[in-house]
Amino acid sequence: MMKNAFSGFCLRRGVGVAAGALVLMALGTAVVAGLPARAQNALPAASASDRALAREIFKELIEINTTDTPAGNVTTATAAMRKRFLDAGFPAEDVLLLGPDARKQNLVVRMRAEGAPIEKPVLFLCHMDVVVALKSDWHTDPFQFVEKDGYYYGRGTQDMKNSDAALVWTFLRLHREGYRPKRDLILALTADEEGGKFNGAEWLVQNHRELVDAAYVINPDSGGVELDHGRAVVADVEATEKVYSDFQVTASNRGGHSSLPRPDNAIYELMAALSKLAEYTFPFEMNGVTRTYFKNLAGQETGQMAADMRAILATPPDLEAAKRLGTEPSINSNFRTTCVATRLIAGHANNALPQTAQANVNCRIFPGHSPEEIRQKLIALFGDPKLTVKYVSDAGEAADTAPERKAIVPPDPIAEVFEPLTRLTQAIWPGTPVTPVMENGASDSIFYAQAGIPSYGFSAIALEKEDERAHGQDERLPVDSYWKSLDFFYAFAKELGK
Ligand SMILES: [Zn+2]
Repeated sequence: MMKNAFSGFCLRRGVGVAAGALVLMALGTAVVAGLPARAQNALPAASASDRALAREIFKELIEINTTDTPAGNVTTATAAMRKRFLDAGFPAEDVLLLGPDARKQNLVVRMRAEGAPIEKPVLFLCHMDVVVALKSDWHTDPFQFVEKDGYYYGRGTQDMKNSDAALVWTFLRLHREGYRPKRDLILALTADEEGGKFNGAEWLVQNHRELVDAAYVINPDSGGVELDHGRAVVADVEATEKVYSDFQVTASNRGGHSSLPRPDNAIYELMAALSKLAEYTFPFEMNGVTRTYFKNLAGQETGQMAADMRAILATPPDLEAAKRLGTEPSINSNFRTTCVATRLIAGHANNALPQTAQANVNCRIFPGHSPEEIRQKLIALFGDPKLTVKYVSDAGEAADTAPERKAIVPPDPIAEVFEPLTRLTQAIWPGTPVTPVMENGASDSIFYAQAGIPSYGFSAIALEKEDERAHGQDERLPVDSYWKSLDFFYAFAKELGK
């Protein structure tokens, strides 16, 4: 039934099966998948000289190693882009290089509105770092931009120097053409999305909110068009994310000789707690994104499945229907927080009573709840004061309390973004339905959701499912897909700047 299990590109924190079934945006321009494509209504293609510039920028970025290793340096890339903006005539105060780490400077570019802005800015958020790539694993040098058989090869060609280059090019082209938006357009090129921590998008919003404050974020690090043998089947837009959290559950005991067992036993106490977790389901929830998702999905399904999806949308929701739907993990994860035991370690000798038993519980938290709220819920569920439940930070350290910050409950998909996004997507890939999805993985969008700024993920690149190579070897992007993303972002930036 899941016609599309397309996952976002940046899933550093584990598998991110997007809420991926086919959904039609109820925006008038959407058409039903499977119908013959409408007449071509392609966007005007960039000129040959513009394409040459866009290729040059892409090449330059691919050939700068921006991995979080001694050989990598994000600042080399962001400084090179800053030079391009300064050379093009952007004022220095609108092209800022900043960050707490000299090797990981972020670039924030502001294209100012003509006159007093009528709306808050739009922020395009793009990470500049890439995942480590070993030359020995690849058929080409990952840090050389190689064009071969209709593809560009190199680390970052899918994730996401393609979009970095496309947006640098878009801003430069708009500036050259004398375009003045009605609201500020901001482009942030950032460090530390893939690895390393704290110097990139999160640092910017927490320390320089004034530079990146926006009505909403466009993050090309997720979403995109899925191809099936060359035919575009669906365009995903990531419109909200669950929050990833790990919790360390520990039972401790004075131990002793295993020939003299007692009722108190760390392993049994931990098992009792985990058994409660196995039996527990977090409450059913909906938000603007998942409601749209299920509403449209119901129209694609038949029989009991369709009826159940309609029933969970009723007020109040039919929880028996939710129970039936929830037996499918990919549906269940779309309407509740989930927590599951993923690792276990206990005891220290075959002939000793265990002194400790410890489990990792991994949670994907529904937007609107904080990790600390979930930690408290686990403590209450276990109901055993002898157990400790600690939060495991990104750095792997266990802490007595968890963050209070939570991702905002996302608004209904806003027409201001989805109307042009749908129209332009269909101009390039006629007949492709556009779907909002909730992501189970994590991108930098989460830091903006936690700061109250909604974020929409769309890469504007089209890939065959089996050709998703982000983080993998021989990463590549079809040349044609790059050209289309240029046309998309140029037109999309103009629409959002209106
Ligand atoms: Zn990425």
